[in-house]
Amino acid sequence: MFIAIDVGGTHIRVASSKNLKTIQQIKRFSTPKNFNLAIGKITMAIKEIIQKQKVQKIIIGLPGVIDQKKGKLLTAPNLKNWVNKPLTNLLSKKFNCSVLLANDNDLAGLGEAIFGAGKKHQLIAYIAIGTGLGGTRIVNKQIDQSAYGFEPGHQIIQKNGKYWPHCQQKGCLESLISGRAFYKNYKIKPEKCQNKKIWRDFAHLLGQGLVNTIVLWSPNIVIIGGGFAQRSHLFLKPLKEFVKKNLLIFKPPMIVKGNLGDQAGIYGGFHFLKTK
Ligand SMILES: [Zn+2]
Repeated sequence: MFIAIDVGGTHIRVASSKNLKTIQQIKRFSTPKNFNLAIGKITMAIKEIIQKQKVQKIIIGLPGVIDQKKGKLLTAPNLKNWVNKPLTNLLSKKFNCSVLLANDNDLAGLGEAIFGAGKKHQLIAYIAIGTGLGGTRIVNKQIDQSAYGFEPGHQIIQKNGKYWPHCQQKGCLESLISGRAFYKNYKIKPEKCQNKKIWRDFAHLLGQGLVNTIVLWSPNIVIIGGGFAQRSHLFLKPLKEFVKKNLLIFKPPMIVKGNLGDQAGIYGGFHFLKTK
């Protein structure tokens, strides 16, 4: 049995698969702030799912910068208590198998590229808007190479923007339109907001980030994932209009909503294990 774990800022998902293509069982719970508590909950979920079967390999998607060699999370603006903890050691001892780490958005982008909205495309820009804002570049069904991963949410788009404590930068995209920023900036929760003016403003800020990302990554398709994808009917139209109006150097790629929902990272995790 293979296990994929997707650790988000608000929820953790633990899933099993036999063939690395389909999900056998999945469990969801909210992310505990305390690291040891989280490990306990993850261990329990795995035990419940596998029912005494042997675990062959585990992949964990984490919202931050990963050190593959040390098996640790180096920086994670939305999961600070997990930084530098011996995550792979703990789980590999418990289940006597190898444990791999990857960035959560890399895995979700990979999931959409293999099984979802990006199936037919070679060059994919995946942008996930949830608690934070992240993304990845997928090339020929693989996570593109990089020195430290991709962080489109931390591109600076406001010159004299506000300080964002989670990354310690000023005026980055995440500080303006992530789940965390939404309530701060618009004084309403995104799941309650129906105000067209707010969503247009949101779309224009996201559009600014997307235009930058598109000119640098030159994708065939942009896929929007994360919790905000559920609300894409409120911002996708003004977003496309903004990109079309402001990106003139080449033809803008298509922009779509992902179609794997919150299981994109799990599917991507299983595919990742297949290639390792
Ligand atoms: Zn930032």
